[in-house]
Amino acid sequence: MTLPASFLIEICYLIATALFVLSLMWLSAPTTARRGVLAGEAGMVLAVGGTLFEKGIIDLHWVIVALAIGAAIGIPLGLVQMTAVPQRTAVSHAFGACCVTLVGTAEFFLRSPNVPKFTMAVLSLEVILGGLTVTGSLIAAGKLQELSFIPQRPVTYRGQNIANLAILAVAIALGVLLVLNPAHPVLFLVMIGVALVFGVMLIIPIGGADMPTVISLLNSYAGLSAAAMGFVLNSKLLIVAGALDGSSGFILSVIMCKAMNRSFTNVLFGAFGQVQTTAAAAGEARTVRSATAEEAAAILGAASSVVIVPGYGMAVAQAQHKVRELYDVLTKKGVDVKFGIHPVAGRMPGHMNVLLAEADIPYDRLLEMDQINSDLPQTDVALIIGANDVTNPAARTDTNSPIYGMPILDVDKARTVMVIKRSMNPGFAGIDNPLYYLDRTLMLFGDAKGFVGDIVRELTGGAHH
Ligand code: NDP
Repeated sequence: MTLPASFLIEICYLIATALFVLSLMWLSAPTTARRGVLAGEAGMVLAVGGTLFEKGIIDLHWVIVALAIGAAIGIPLGLVQMTAVPQRTAVSHAFGACCVTLVGTAEFFLRSPNVPKFTMAVLSLEVILGGLTVTGSLIAAGKLQELSFIPQRPVTYRGQNIANLAILAVAIALGVLLVLNPAHPVLFLVMIGVALVFGVMLIIPIGGADMPTVISLLNSYAGLSAAAMGFVLNSKLLIVAGALDGSSGFILSVIMCKAMNRSFTNVLFGAFGQVQTTAAAAGEARTVRSATAEEAAAILGAASSVVIVPGYGMAVAQAQHKVRELYDVLTKKGVDVKFGIHPVAGRMPGHMNVLLAEADIPYDRLLEMDQINSDLPQTDVALIIGANDVTNPAARTDTNSPIYGMPILDVDKARTVMVIKRSMNPGFAGIDNPLYYLDRTLMLFGDAKGFVGDIVRELTGGAHH
């Protein structure tokens, strides 16, 4: 007995749907995250594979050409440095949203003028969300990649929010007109054009520091537009996958906003990320105490508890393996070593967990902010490796600070604070860090990988003077 192709396709879609759900579940914990990635990939292979058996596909040649082009773009995109993953993700969203918008456009032209009202409403939603995600994501990626022709700083002008809302209102009004009378291909194209413009206008007032949150939100828009496409194409798989994407992107942006103590409206309309030059300049006159690797090693070796706080600089320096060596020597000496992980340390959620997992640091040594903050006052040494903003006590104390209210790791409460970074330059938020001027703070100036390597050498007695 041979099974009809449509049955096999439905089975493929069903398993793919289940795999997508499992993938998200597994991705939420470091121990199962790799399995989650594999499940997502397998689900995507089944979803694409099943679609290739659809009756509507009569010529596979173009599909193969498209696959080849996609692979040629996708493989190099997958090989970018980990620190470039946020902008890489934004580019992927732009491609996804572009695809959704093109499919929506094709469907409109295939069906116009006989588009039922519900379908037309969903089609409009699909291309508006898709269109704004295309340009919004490209601008976001450009800002993060620091492309010279895209301003990093928020571009703001008077009445900006009202102007933006007006542009969105025009796009929605065009959608409503099309629902009432779908026989207007020009209106449809103008609606897409307005959505594309809206995407640019929506993102230019947002500063670089908020980009990862915005990218996560754009992820959710791309998901919602894919779900809308699912309604148009009558594909349950697309509806489910789009809804999963839409909701997980949204939840992630909410988590990131919470970790930075920002509201959504503040991220989207607050023009955060402008540098406080005055604060940074004022800091330069103050003095700091610095120390050598030898001195740092002596303090660490004599401590009974150490909390290591990694940040973006550890990622840049690729210091995670050296950090693992440091963890090993200190643990062997009987020092209790833990890691304090801030939810927005680095440049993407989970950034530090991924790096430390790569270096095989046991998961149970990685503690989240709330857990580690209750330990820090009893900790001998807080060793900060390339982190800055997530340790800035101004967030707790200085009501004028742009990061005031952001929950931070209370490293300033440890008995001794040591900070590995290359200079007195600020971190992502562009502001000075009063932590560096405390009496108990020692600055360890140098590249994270090199400096941690030097400390390890001192501790293992490998250095000769
Ligand atoms: P920061 O960007 O605040 O600071 C990183 C520090 O690392 C810099 O001050 C830099 O100092 C130092 N550094 C850079 N390269 C090296 C190197 N090779 N060796 C040693 N040190 C180095 O990072 P944090 O992780 O503390 O904070 C993350 C920031 O990113 C926060 O502002 C957060 O809000 C923001 N953000 C994070 C997101 C996330 O999801 N993780 C999302 C959105 C925003 P120097 O130049 O002197 O070496």
